[in-house]
Amino acid sequence: MSKVLIAEDNAANRELLRELLEMHGYTVVEACDGGEALRMIEQTQPDLLLLDIGMPVLDGFAVVGKIRENPRLAQLPVVAVTAYAMQGDREKILNANFDGYLSKPINSQSLAEELDRLLNKGTDQDVSQSQAPGGQPSGKARAAREG
Ligand code: MN
Repeated sequence: MSKVLIAEDNAANRELLRELLEMHGYTVVEACDGGEALRMIEQTQPDLLLLDIGMPVLDGFAVVGKIRENPRLAQLPVVAVTAYAMQGDREKILNANFDGYLSKPINSQSLAEELDRLLNKGTDQDVSQSQAPGGQPSGKARAAREG
């Protein structure tokens, strides 16, 4: 099962993210600032990092910069989690070495889809899709491709 590191300085947001991730079957580890995030990546070797932008010690842009500079960490998928809702922020974030972007308040389905996109590339682990009527064609297309 995939392990996700939540780097977020707000305790309530960490708790919400943990609940959503555990509900989707992920193992969760946490960091409260940018410095701890970098230490926890080394110590716990997560499969993906959910990275708040506004944090003490090192902000999200600084953290992702350090990750991409480090050959051992450079391939780690990093998803920005931010309340910044201004025009252009999405572009700024995606141009800054992030693999994805989630805006607060966190939407459970967006979170699940983003992690699935980055962690389950082509491996259709979630076969028991309880699709709503008229649901997404992607699941069916995947199922068809894999017979
Ligand atoms: Mn923050």
